[in-house]
Amino acid sequence: MSELVLVINAGSSSIKFSLFETGAADPVLLFKGLADGIYVDPKFVAKDADDNKLVSESMPADMPKNHDSALRHMLAWLNSRIEGRTIAAIGHRVVHGGLSFCQPVRITEEVLKGLDETIALAPLHAPHNIMPMRVLAQLLPTVPQVACFDTAFHRTQPEIEQQYALPYEFTEKHGIRRYGFHGLSYEFIASVLPAIDAKAAAGRTVVAHLGNGSSMAALLNGHCQATTMGFTALEGLPMGTRCGTIDPALILHFMSHLKMDASQIEELIYKQSGLLGMSGISSDMRDLHASKDPHAKFAVDYFAHRVVREAASLAAAMQGFDALVFTAGIGENDDIARATVCNELRWLGVEIDEVANAKRSGEARCISLPGSRVPVYIIPTNEELMIARHALKCVAA
Ligand code: ADP
Repeated sequence: MSELVLVINAGSSSIKFSLFETGAADPVLLFKGLADGIYVDPKFVAKDADDNKLVSESMPADMPKNHDSALRHMLAWLNSRIEGRTIAAIGHRVVHGGLSFCQPVRITEEVLKGLDETIALAPLHAPHNIMPMRVLAQLLPTVPQVACFDTAFHRTQPEIEQQYALPYEFTEKHGIRRYGFHGLSYEFIASVLPAIDAKAAAGRTVVAHLGNGSSMAALLNGHCQATTMGFTALEGLPMGTRCGTIDPALILHFMSHLKMDASQIEELIYKQSGLLGMSGISSDMRDLHASKDPHAKFAVDYFAHRVVREAASLAAAMQGFDALVFTAGIGENDDIARATVCNELRWLGVEIDEVANAKRSGEARCISLPGSRVPVYIIPTNEELMIARHALKCVAA
């Protein structure tokens, strides 16, 4: 009988899960879902692999409103569905691996201690990523757990890309460096690209992971050469609500002239900026396209323009590029943003096929004209599958 792999992606108020079945060449998705509104009004939703809703319910009122209860509720639902089959491994998405974790790792007490040390690097995410590991170790003590890091894929960047122009003691003593994020997404794209375009996979590809969180990476023969995010997931492109790169001295200005404190600045740059802040309407591209407000159009154009700037910069880091890949919510679905980006990159040899670009599909596909020097692809990402693959491999080892 096939075994199962559970993938957990835990955030501050939600826990997403995916359950995969093993046996085929690649794990196959069975169920996915989430518990969200954890501290306010916890709800649980589960779907099958075709996105059909199987359950959508409030969690029992007598359960404490916390992550622990949400995990118990999720496991109880999964147990009712897996008909006596066993979970062979649990893979966790972990945003930050710090300097210590450069690849997926089996979770032990010692690893948990090491993970606790990364909390200082990612205080907004790391505690929520780590906590379910301890809860699941109690609830399912015999099931091996594996931590998979969003930063790991970027550790192959040349040193020159990983450093800031700060005194070396900051790098060495305090771990201040450009870590990069969305690594599991880039790793997934690198894993499927050879079957789509073997030449690009062996060469230089710029990948644009454009979603609510957005970043881009330069892949040389499948390995990261450069990326737009840095010490935190704030650097680089503007995002749904994050500002992306701003003049760092602005933070000093906010403090000294606008008398803002750290929590106000954090709220501003993480939650009130980006597409939402610029448009004053929404962090969601769909709302901005639907709006007639000129601020909405400006926000979309600004976003696309920054993607163009970063694409050229990443291409420079590889002395050119042989392919451009769009992925994630905006990259996979927003033909307007893709067309704007590609048209601004025409001078670098990008020629988009407007008809192919406008076509809707969930499949990986080429959207450039046959004569385009740089082929352009949409490749749906699958970070959960990447985690399931890693969890199985790590446990087998
Ligand atoms: P996350 O970074 O949270 O994983 P996603 O990759 O799922 O986010 O991207 C979500 C974003 O994708 C939405 O906020 C929206 O801007 C964009 N998006 C999703 N669907 C569409 C669509 N059909 N057209 C344009 N943009 C879309």
